[in-house]
Amino acid sequence: MEGVKGTIPRRLLEQIEASTDADLATTCTALASHLATNVTCRELLHQVAHPLNTTCAKHVETALRCKEEGNAAFKASSYQEAIDHYTKAIRYNRFATDDDKKTLATLFVNRAAATQALGHLMAVTRDCTRAIGLQPEYSKAWYRRGRAWAGMQWYDTAIDDLGKALDFEASVNGKNDISRELDRVKKLMATGAERLDVNCGAGPEPWGLGEVICHDGVSPYWTPDKNWGIQATKKIDVGSLALEEEPIAALISKDHRNTRCHYCFDVLPPDPVACFECAIPIYCDEPCLRAACDESSEELDGQTWRGEHMHECTGATWSAVLPTDAVLAARLFFRGQENARLDRQLKELCHHYNKMSGAAKVEAHVLATVVAHCLMYPAKNYQQTMGDLAAKLVCLIAVVRANAMAIHIPADISTQDEHRIDENLLSLVEQVNVGQGVYYTGSKFNHACNANVHASFKGRHLRVQTIKPIQAGVPLELCYGAQVGEMRRDERQMWLQDRYFFTCECLSCKTVVQPDLLLFSFRCPKAGCNGVVPGPSSVQQPDQSGDIRDSSTEGNVPRPGCCIACGSELNMQYSPDAARAVMMDLERVELKLQPPSRNQEAALNEALNLLKLCQGIFHASSKEMAKAEDVVARAYCLVGQPHDARAHCKVAIQILEKIYGKDHIAVANERLKLASIALAAGAGDEVRSNLALANDVMRIHYGSDHPTSVHLDAFHQLG
Ligand SMILES: [Zn+2]
Ligand SMILES: [Zn+2]
Ligand SMILES: [Zn+2]
Ligand SMILES: [Zn+2]
Repeated sequence: MEGVKGTIPRRLLEQIEASTDADLATTCTALASHLATNVTCRELLHQVAHPLNTTCAKHVETALRCKEEGNAAFKASSYQEAIDHYTKAIRYNRFATDDDKKTLATLFVNRAAATQALGHLMAVTRDCTRAIGLQPEYSKAWYRRGRAWAGMQWYDTAIDDLGKALDFEASVNGKNDISRELDRVKKLMATGAERLDVNCGAGPEPWGLGEVICHDGVSPYWTPDKNWGIQATKKIDVGSLALEEEPIAALISKDHRNTRCHYCFDVLPPDPVACFECAIPIYCDEPCLRAACDESSEELDGQTWRGEHMHECTGATWSAVLPTDAVLAARLFFRGQENARLDRQLKELCHHYNKMSGAAKVEAHVLATVVAHCLMYPAKNYQQTMGDLAAKLVCLIAVVRANAMAIHIPADISTQDEHRIDENLLSLVEQVNVGQGVYYTGSKFNHACNANVHASFKGRHLRVQTIKPIQAGVPLELCYGAQVGEMRRDERQMWLQDRYFFTCECLSCKTVVQPDLLLFSFRCPKAGCNGVVPGPSSVQQPDQSGDIRDSSTEGNVPRPGCCIACGSELNMQYSPDAARAVMMDLERVELKLQPPSRNQEAALNEALNLLKLCQGIFHASSKEMAKAEDVVARAYCLVGQPHDARAHCKVAIQILEKIYGKDHIAVANERLKLASIALAAGAGDEVRSNLALANDVMRIHYGSDHPTSVHLDAFHQLG
């Protein structure tokens, strides 16, 4: 995109930098005609918009090569490798002629052979069913599926499938093999073994596009100064589900494109399916494929809507290489085109185009115009000019920047394997950002740095839970970024200003609250004093704002570098720098503890030394001390001394409770760590009690079906 920017004439650039949303039709039309006439731009556009220039279109030779690589890996008994090659072949295999479909059926059956070798029997049946759908008389597919059913002790179904395989098999040798297998299964059936209870993977009914359920005490309202907000119309208990919603549009992060479903964001099963038209997206199964790729999926208000991927599916590269904002904006554009209600909803979403920097305006213009060119490329008939289309897309890019939520879900959890409960517990602490979504009602929550609701995601599905009791008439507020005590107060406020263009005036920003005070705070230099010395930016300078108060010191204004209890002054010239250096060392040690970690003894010694240094610098209840204790606990774990690890982990919990209160997510996460350490130390009671306490907090934030409750049940069953 830099290449395009460099060609824009000075005058047009200045015009764009100074533009407001009222000028977009003019500026976009000018830019669109520049792109269409400039030789360099046309070359660049050709690269991202033309299907022949792409690595994302179906490609017969690539598919064949991957198939051969898969066969070779299978022969060498490298089954996982074979599965990966076959999946890639499925992505690149065309779906136009009967021969293409025949090849695809073969690929599904070959992949089934590899998944069977690894024991994923349900995946085998799914792949064989796909092959049979493409080629109903494919004996091998029936045979392989029959054997998979038999493996799950579904003998009657297996006998039906093997019978079909026998009917369709042409060769005498083949018929003999199938007959032998049929006899074997019939004998097994006669022994009367029970059908295994198999999870067929049929999940709950999928939600419709943009579908929403609100708590009956929750209602959007309009205010002149903050636009939309959401408030309680009656008293709402803590831990209530305030809102559940499907996005109007969502998009997977680039990092997860090869490992997660592009529709529901789940970790892919061994047998993913691919778009029939291009080689970009893969999905966990047919329902996700249909939701994203069907010509006309479902009805909404009597109108059908197309799958979110359809307009990207020209085989061109643009949707794979352009930034998320631009691709998501194009998805929103089509939603508005197709459905009057969604179009109305999109218009209600705010944007801050007029407040954006000149550079950001130019970037939005270039992206929007490039996307407009790509959408128009195969001469699609939109009833608008390139300039008008680009103008709409500029607005939508601004809408995405103002409203899109980062979709965070717990890292890969395998609750099936209860023997790995300690690893499962730790995986719950880690959250991964799998994508971005735009939610209509969810966008209406206003921000507070100390929020009373918490947003979490089940795949692309948004859930908002109340984490404090809320009285009637009180607004429900979500934290857009870092909460109090998670990021330095001045950085937090700057981030909100940069990203959302407002100066936060929430209660926690107007006064000094405990979590902010204890972030980057120092110990008092006077012997015997336990007072807090606030760091340079955890409180504002009193002369900048007259109305600053501190609830914990009865009206005394805390000053940076000055002990709250005794007034002793710290040499601020020196302390913050030393403190930052120690924290950077601590982060370095933390990296060393991550697998594959070597020289764990040395890392432990380093961590212990840093803990001592921290004790000399930071206040005993500062967030930095909690972090140092946590790192030491993990280092002790790695060298196989869970008893020492426990002691340090407990100190970390005590500090975090002082900073945030008992029911904060940071405390719950530390308790999950303690539970996993206690498990290694064989302290069953401690596992149970910490798991239960963590679960109380998780239930409030995520709802009662959070995996901690599953672990708790599993642990109770283990006894
Ligand atoms: Zn999926
Ligand atoms: Zn496609
Ligand atoms: Zn604030
Ligand atoms: Zn003091």
